[in-house]
Amino acid sequence: MAPTSFDVVVIGGGPGGYVAAIRASQMGLKTAVIDRDRLGGICLNWGCIPTKALLKNAELYDHLKHGAEWGIECDNIRFDFGKIVNRSRRVADKMASGVDFLMKKNKVTPIYGQAKIIAPGKVRVAAPEGNRDIEGKHIIIATGARPRTIPGVQFDSERIISSKEAMFLGECPKTMVVIGAGAIGIEFAYFYAVLGTKVTVLEAQDSILPVEDREVSAVVQKSMKHRGVDIHTGAFVEGVKKTKKGVEVTFKKGKDGKPQSIEADKCLMAIGVQGNIENVGLEQVGIATERSSIKVDRDYKTNVEGFYAIGDVIGPPWLAHVASAEGVICVEAIAGHKPHALDYSNIPGCTYCQPQVASVGLTEEKCKEQKLDYKVGKFPFRASGKAVATGDPDGMVKIIFGAKYHEILGAHIVGAEATEMIGELGLAKSLEATLEDIHGTVHAHPTLSESMMEAAAAAAGIAIHI
Ligand code: NAD
Repeated sequence: MAPTSFDVVVIGGGPGGYVAAIRASQMGLKTAVIDRDRLGGICLNWGCIPTKALLKNAELYDHLKHGAEWGIECDNIRFDFGKIVNRSRRVADKMASGVDFLMKKNKVTPIYGQAKIIAPGKVRVAAPEGNRDIEGKHIIIATGARPRTIPGVQFDSERIISSKEAMFLGECPKTMVVIGAGAIGIEFAYFYAVLGTKVTVLEAQDSILPVEDREVSAVVQKSMKHRGVDIHTGAFVEGVKKTKKGVEVTFKKGKDGKPQSIEADKCLMAIGVQGNIENVGLEQVGIATERSSIKVDRDYKTNVEGFYAIGDVIGPPWLAHVASAEGVICVEAIAGHKPHALDYSNIPGCTYCQPQVASVGLTEEKCKEQKLDYKVGKFPFRASGKAVATGDPDGMVKIIFGAKYHEILGAHIVGAEATEMIGELGLAKSLEATLEDIHGTVHAHPTLSESMMEAAAAAAGIAIHI
């Protein structure tokens, strides 16, 4: 008989849930993870991973189109959209089977079905083969989030789509309106623009990637415009309706602006997410929520004894790596360890368009808002031998240091491999490294990462290559 009683029961097998389950099992806790779908969550099945596969295709296609500039003549370059989509699906399948393997290896019991809390310590799992009641001394809710839409506008999976449908359209659309210029909007705008779709981006804030440093957003905006993407900032979308063949999106530029509209084949809604707090049975035991998120303390305990929540369902920052980190801390605390609280001021954020964007800590705008005394060091990739040699001269490293102690307040990279490089500055920040530490660390030449050393030197006025 399959076991029905566990030390830890995790509801939701995304990067928050399955990581929490593995860590719990590593510490000797008898653990189950429940999911209504394949393990891996949005990240692995419909988010981070398959989109990275699609974006790699776009990059490759873009390179081939510009082959002549590299002395490589390619005629008749074209793509097969179906095969691009299939490759991305295969990547997701492969990684999902990897999670199944990890469950076995770590002796975590996967249970498939729709889970609902029915009483303290009790979860009912509804599956086609019937209901099953599971007991857990500790129950972790890791049910994630789903795309939000504009009031009155519904996703139809065909023309008014979310990031999920944008990943497996039947054909490459001729025209697309992307609402929202956050990470999802900009990644898909880049992907489709490279493949030849006429993309229009509508963003309510006054810059694209509004959470990023303004100088960084400006670099991406310039590059996107160069690719032929129409970008409207300060454009608040009020409605989307279906037309005979496509969609019509209505927006206003500024509060008193005149309503304008654009027609397109598809409308990708990328205006953020909301927590999956419905149908989990939170009300059965009285778990407190706020807006669309579950309220928790620093160890991810809810207001009800024995229940915890982690990941997207507890609110921003809605990032896979944050969910995983929260999952580990949550179960270590359950196991009686005393884990450090997560430092939310040191979370990297990445956007995988080209040029890529990666950052950690405060933007310059935030430093100003907080009236901090700071100094900035910048190094443009056009001054990096490696970047020029590899054909990636766009972008820069910008590091913001405290004026007095030279600690890192924020670090921002826009350019090739930015998402790989930010790890160094995240580590430096968490170790409280200073301008002098980064500058004093010999970086290999020629590398893009030298630019971080040069940016630190620039903050002290002693950069060599600019
Ligand atoms: P987001 O919140 O990052 O961006 C949504 C954007 O939509 C905002 O800039 C907002 O100003 C704009 N917006 C909202 N309402 C609007 C309206 N009516 N008209 C015009 N613009 C409007 O959300 P997202 O891009 O959908 O991503 C969801 C979450 O997933 C985010 O937290 C994001 O960080 C995370 N994510 C991260 C990555 C990554 O790290 N590469 C990738 C995908 C998603």
